[in-house]
Amino acid sequence: MLGAWLLFEAMLYICSIFGPTSRLLKIVSLPMASLRWLSALSVAVQVAGQPQSSTCSNPTCSSPPCAAPLLGDVGCTTVSGTETYNHELLTVGSTIASNAHIYGPFEAGFTSMQKSIIENWGCTDASVAYDSEGGTDIGTAESKVSKACNIELPRIEGNNYYGVVGPCGGHTNDYHFHRGFTCLYSESGAHSTKVGEVASHNMYGKWEDYDNQRLPLLDACGGHIGPTPESSTAVYHYHVQDQAPFTVGCHGPSSSGGLVSVATCRALYSDCDNDGGSGTTIELKTGTVAYDRFCPCFDAAGSNMGTNIQELPALSSTEIYYTVNSTTDSSSDSTSTMPSATMDSATAWSISAFFVSACYFLMFQL
Ligand SMILES: [Zn+2]
Ligand SMILES: [Zn+2]
Repeated sequence: MLGAWLLFEAMLYICSIFGPTSRLLKIVSLPMASLRWLSALSVAVQVAGQPQSSTCSNPTCSSPPCAAPLLGDVGCTTVSGTETYNHELLTVGSTIASNAHIYGPFEAGFTSMQKSIIENWGCTDASVAYDSEGGTDIGTAESKVSKACNIELPRIEGNNYYGVVGPCGGHTNDYHFHRGFTCLYSESGAHSTKVGEVASHNMYGKWEDYDNQRLPLLDACGGHIGPTPESSTAVYHYHVQDQAPFTVGCHGPSSSGGLVSVATCRALYSDCDNDGGSGTTIELKTGTVAYDRFCPCFDAAGSNMGTNIQELPALSSTEIYYTVNSTTDSSSDSTSTMPSATMDSATAWSISAFFVSACYFLMFQL
């Protein structure tokens, strides 16, 4: 748009130089001036409306457990962070403001609307990555795209990060997190610091105790009960995790104030096993998996379908964490939606084309 504006200005300048008569200038100057102002106004509106973020709306759950929204806000962040790589519209050093959206694991799908984004990942034929049904979690979606396009996601090339979500775990103009929150807390100390609020409970970074390499044992919603930096007495709280549902599978705790089982979580969603249990078959880089779209309740084996649920260890353990031996990667991977809502350059170009031809017409006819 800015390019078109500059071109338009250049054409006006050329017109004013080569315009044959002052009569011509009189004829064209008034409408030109008003159109110039209109055009300037449209540029201003454009710039103001660029990365337009909608306000995050933290849902309520007055009688837990509750289903969490499958698409849209499940909570909101409470701290800001700094982007570490270039990804979509964000560049190294960009601020990811507080009160950003926290979404659940699912993407709405990929269609021709995301063509340019998919091509930007390095996928030569974006159509092989289209999935209009959506409802696959960010990890599955990214692996599916990697397989279909035969590319590596996420990957880093120089300062550029290629992934469905960026290095901090979110994406798009209306920035929303699906996972990670890696730029919202530091991997140091004991319990990770708070990154957001999910209904009436706090959400933390992934570590129960970073110094001692302890990861939390979490229920099907993604929460557990223990002390936090905000509370010395044990309270229900969420941690982000490296596997689905990444953020939350539901709003806990259970009706008795305890942890939420996989079965209880699935009972909250009509999409869980409502397809007779057969699910969909999805081809991933790692092989073929059976998957239940829009069911955010994953068992200990990472499955979100079937009756042979492998209950999460948190439900049968008195511990609230387990110790990892090796250093765990804190990377986030990705999935994205939403092309930029940039104003149509087509409109800008047709406006310029109109002025260019009008200018030529006046120059040679009058
Ligand atoms: Zn914890
Ligand atoms: Zn998304």
